Amino acid sequence: QWGEYDRAYFQSYSHVAIHEEMIKDHVRTDTYRAAIMRHQNFIAGKVVMDVGCGTGILSIFCAQAGARRVYAIEASEIAVQANEVVKENGLSDRVIVLHGRVEDVEIEEKVDVIISEWMGYMLLYESMLGSVIFARDKWLKPGGLILPSHATLYMAPITNTERYQDSIDFWRDVYGINMSALLPLAKQCSFEEPMIETVSGENVLTWPFVIKYVDCYTVTARELESVTARYRFASMMRAPLHGFGFWFDVEFNGPVLYPSNHHSSSLSGTSSSDLYSHGASTQRKRQSRSSDTIVLSTAPEDPPTHWQQTILYFYDPIEVKQDQIIEGSITLSQSKENPRFLNIHLEYSSGGRSFVKESVMR
Ligand code: SAH
Repeated sequence: QWGEYDRAYFQSYSHVAIHEEMIKDHVRTDTYRAAIMRHQNFIAGKVVMDVGCGTGILSIFCAQAGARRVYAIEASEIAVQANEVVKENGLSDRVIVLHGRVEDVEIEEKVDVIISEWMGYMLLYESMLGSVIFARDKWLKPGGLILPSHATLYMAPITNTERYQDSIDFWRDVYGINMSALLPLAKQCSFEEPMIETVSGENVLTWPFVIKYVDCYTVTARELESVTARYRFASMMRAPLHGFGFWFDVEFNGPVLYPSNHHSSSLSGTSSSDLYSHGASTQRKRQSRSSDTIVLSTAPEDPPTHWQQTILYFYDPIEVKQDQIIEGSITLSQSKENPRFLNIHLEYSSGGRSFVKESVMR
C-alpha cells in the first residue's frame, strides 16, 4: 500500500545491527518466549503466522513450543538469513519462511495464532500494527490467538534538570565565554524532535495517563491513523517541568479465557505499572490485569529495554508547585509525508500559560 516509503523502511531491517539490538534486549526477547510458553497448550499442533519474522527467532520459539507449522513472513532481505537459520536448525519442514510483505503473501490455510513484534517508539512509530491488523483480518481463524494481545501507551510529565543543563545551560558559560547567543538554536536543535532516552522513576512528576489502549483482537487501522487524548495531571512535587515522557507496555492474553492449567513459565508477569490503574490521572482505564498476565513493559521504573522512553522536551521549562495542574491534549497521527512517520501535536498549559508544540518523528 505504501510502496515508495516501504523500500527505505524494509531496507533498514536488512542490516544485522538492528536485529542484534532487538535480540540482545533480553527483556523483550525473554518476555516473548515466556508468552509463547505460557500459551504452549494453545500453540501445540497449531498453525502460526509470524508477521515480520526478522531473523526467525519468534518463529523458532513457536516451533519449539510444538507448532505444527509456522509461516514466517519477512519483507526485508533478512528473510534470506532467516531461511538459512531455519534450515540449519532442522526446522524446514515446519517453519516456512516467505520473503515478502504480509499484505502480499499467499498461504494455503488460515492460521490459529498470529505473533508479531511490531511496537515502535511511542508504540505507534513505524505504523507496523496496521500490517498485523491486515494479517488478522485476512488469515486468522475465529477464536485465534494474537500475541501480544493488548497494548497501552502512556504519558507523564517529566523533570530532567541534568539533561536540560547539559544541552542548554551549557552555552551560558563556555570556557568563560558567554555563548548565550546559541541558546535559541540549541533549544531548537535539541528539543524540536522527540528524544529516545532513558529516564528513571525520579524524573516522573506524577502517575502516567493512558493515551491509548489497543485491543489487538478488535482494533482497526482507521482508529490508528490519528489518536487524540485530553490529559490532566496534578504534579506530586515542586520541580521544573521539562516536558513529557512516553512509554508503552503490551500484554499477552488469550482471545477468550480458556482453561488455565497451562502455566509452564514461572516468569512473573506483573509489572509495577499495574499501579497506574489506581492513579487518579489515568482516565482512560484499560481493563484491570490479572496478576499472572505476562507484560512487556518499557516504563521508567521497569528494567530497561532498547525502546527506552520517548521524551518530548519543551523549549523552556515551567516551574510547577506541588499539586499544580498540567493539562492539555495530545494528538499522534500518521504523517502525510510518510505514514511510517509520526506527527505529534501537543497542547499544554499550566500556571495560566498555554503552549502548542508540533513535532515529527522521522
Ligand atoms: N520478529 C523479529 C523481528 C521484529 S522487527 C524479532 O522479534 O526479532 C519487525 C520486522 O518486521 C522487521 O524485520 C520488518 O522488516 C518486518 N516487517 C514489518 N512490516 C512488515 C510487513 N508488512 N510484511 C513483512 N514483514 C514486515
